[in-house]
Amino acid sequence: MNLPLRLSGLTKIYGGHAVVNGVDLAIEPGKCHGLLGPNGAGKTTTLRLALGLIAADSGTVELVGHPMPGEGNTARARVGVVPQIDSLDPDFSVRENLLVYGSYFGLGRKEVEARIPELLDFAGLAGKEQALVPTLSGGMKRRLTLARALINDPDLVILDEPTTGLDPQARHLVWQGLRRLIGKGKTLLLTTHFMDEAERLCDTISIIDQGRIIVEGSPRDLIRQHIEPQVVEVYGDALADWRVCALDLCKRCETAGETLFCYTDNPEPIIAELDKQPELRYLHRPANLEDVFLKLTGRDLRD
Ligand code: ADP
Repeated sequence: MNLPLRLSGLTKIYGGHAVVNGVDLAIEPGKCHGLLGPNGAGKTTTLRLALGLIAADSGTVELVGHPMPGEGNTARARVGVVPQIDSLDPDFSVRENLLVYGSYFGLGRKEVEARIPELLDFAGLAGKEQALVPTLSGGMKRRLTLARALINDPDLVILDEPTTGLDPQARHLVWQGLRRLIGKGKTLLLTTHFMDEAERLCDTISIIDQGRIIVEGSPRDLIRQHIEPQVVEVYGDALADWRVCALDLCKRCETAGETLFCYTDNPEPIIAELDKQPELRYLHRPANLEDVFLKLTGRDLRD
């Protein structure tokens, strides 16, 4: 069966180092797949390989059923791309940006013009047709980039950090747009550093580190399989003294900055102890995808 994207044994070497190292990935139609990983993990290189913008050293890419990079032009005509950095033309209006982008796909002016109202409505930009790009807010520019990526009515939309730099209101609007796309049966592949975004939107997730996919599954399965279900985060000046107590009470503890994360199946004894320590503050919550990500990729900074 032709899948929106199938990567097999994909490897890319830069400077003698495999920055993408034997990646296998199969994305089902109509699903949203998240590619998560720390900085330098190989996400953008994987997307560039998937789009046929660079050639692999070994392995294969099939994009909407076409081998890449050989049939790149045919495949890319059915794919939309939201790049990490907005590449809108600042000299043009919203409408002109869409018209010019449509012409790259060989779409006629009339055809694009007919699609513009629907795209702007979708992106929450109705009435902004004549606005020049520099007058748009960051959130509006992002949503225009999303609308632009849909100009060719793609089957697969690839989004590289679609909400980086947006405020919470704008992020929610973009999420709403992405959920509507999923509702329309489009397939999405997205990278993000926001674990809540991935947890909300993605049916399946791959976590990539040092060029290799280390785990794959639904957000819920990853949480169930890789982490204790409950977390108690503890802060406060007396934390150093309490740490020994925590080690006795929970399955696993991790320190990050001034916070102690206690991972456990049973938070009650920990909370009972903490209630006797008024100088400590705590937050009890269910484990989430960020806990999984940090457990599997570590808490050290990557650049
Ligand atoms: P991510 O998107 O996960 O942050 P990238 O795919 O951008 O990671 O980069 C993975 C690794 O490949 C990094 O170490 C980066 O420096 C290196 N890299 C990416 N592109 C190039 C290139 N054109 N030439 C040399 N090294 C590169």
